[in-house]
Amino acid sequence: MKLHEYQAKELFAKHGVPVPEGIVALTAGDALAAAEALGYPVAIKAQVHIGGRGKAGGVKLVSDGKEAEAVAEAILGLTIGGFPVRKLLVTPAVDVAHELYLSLLIDRNKRTAVYIGCAEGGVEIETVAKESPEKILRCEVNARELDNAPERDLTAFVEALCLEAGHVPEVVDVMAKIGKCFKATGASLIEINPLIVDTSGAVIALDAKMVLDDNALFQHPELAELRDIASEDEDELEADKAGVSFVRLEGSIGCVVNGAGLAMATMDVIKHLGGAPSNFLDIGGGARSEKVVTAFKMILKDPNVKVILVNILGGITRCDEVAKGILAALADFDVPVPIVIRLAGTNEAEGRALLEGTQLIFAETLEQGAETAIKIGGAA
Ligand code: GDP
Ligand code: MN
Repeated sequence: MKLHEYQAKELFAKHGVPVPEGIVALTAGDALAAAEALGYPVAIKAQVHIGGRGKAGGVKLVSDGKEAEAVAEAILGLTIGGFPVRKLLVTPAVDVAHELYLSLLIDRNKRTAVYIGCAEGGVEIETVAKESPEKILRCEVNARELDNAPERDLTAFVEALCLEAGHVPEVVDVMAKIGKCFKATGASLIEINPLIVDTSGAVIALDAKMVLDDNALFQHPELAELRDIASEDEDELEADKAGVSFVRLEGSIGCVVNGAGLAMATMDVIKHLGGAPSNFLDIGGGARSEKVVTAFKMILKDPNVKVILVNILGGITRCDEVAKGILAALADFDVPVPIVIRLAGTNEAEGRALLEGTQLIFAETLEQGAETAIKIGGAA
């Protein structure tokens, strides 16, 4: 679950990480009132679940009331990366001397927490990573010890970033505090870009990005309430409601599969044979017809989809039940692309009988199904 900057900053503040004051505004009028209360100059910042707001015109400094109102109005009219701006954060402008990059996340391969730092903050870290990877430093910390990370390690890491000596203890302090915040909130990512040194030498988190681990949210009901439904990916929400897991990808082959493991295997086989799946989709066990309908509808929202591959392994889920779902989906609306189906397992014969005479193309094996789908949908 992604948090907004203002929400992440509230959690930072609770853990002692220095952040500028801030007031959330929903209208230009509210933004003006906030700016007047804080005193000029202020920064007005779009609150959307996507980075690069600055470049998109979603972060602006203003120096008087007239400007504040006009800028707030303009930012509220923006859609950034597909996310309409509905909330603003108004915050005192800071005089920036240095911008650093600092983040904390879990490295699953190494089974450890890792701080990532770069002396060149403010810019997109992905660009730095590509062009000068040697500027990006890592500091691994046992995830269980994030609330008590060895100061020696943190200090060595910050020293390697080559800041002015005086700022080292302050940055180490921020690292220790975001470590505590990370552990206490069940986060999977904290990113501060930029973490700045202001002209008076103070170290401040000027931006804040935080992602909480959905699987840990049950431990933090008060944090679950921070979810901003209106700002989330529509497809994923719709899928969530229907009880299917759905992740959109870039390919041309839509996938409808029962079971997460089988869905992964299906994507692997498609890739292995040279195709590209347009999505991950697990309709789960006991797939009822409504779920299949939702699956088709979500896949077909993507104009790149040229073919759908349905891969069903009937266990507890019976093939005839899935077949009924497919029939219902086809009766409900026109599926404008070919559907390839591999139907195997419990009640396979009954399922096939139900689907006879439809537009479906049957495949005997998963490989065959994938090959047929790639022939229709094209190679990656
Ligand atoms: P992002 O573009 O979504 O990452 O949004 P940020 O919060 O990082 O803001 C983008 C950039 O605006 C920052 O990297 C800063 O350079 C600049 N910025 C934001 N707030 C202030 C501020 O109060 N003072 C100054 N001088 N620059 C700011
Ligand atoms: Mn930023």
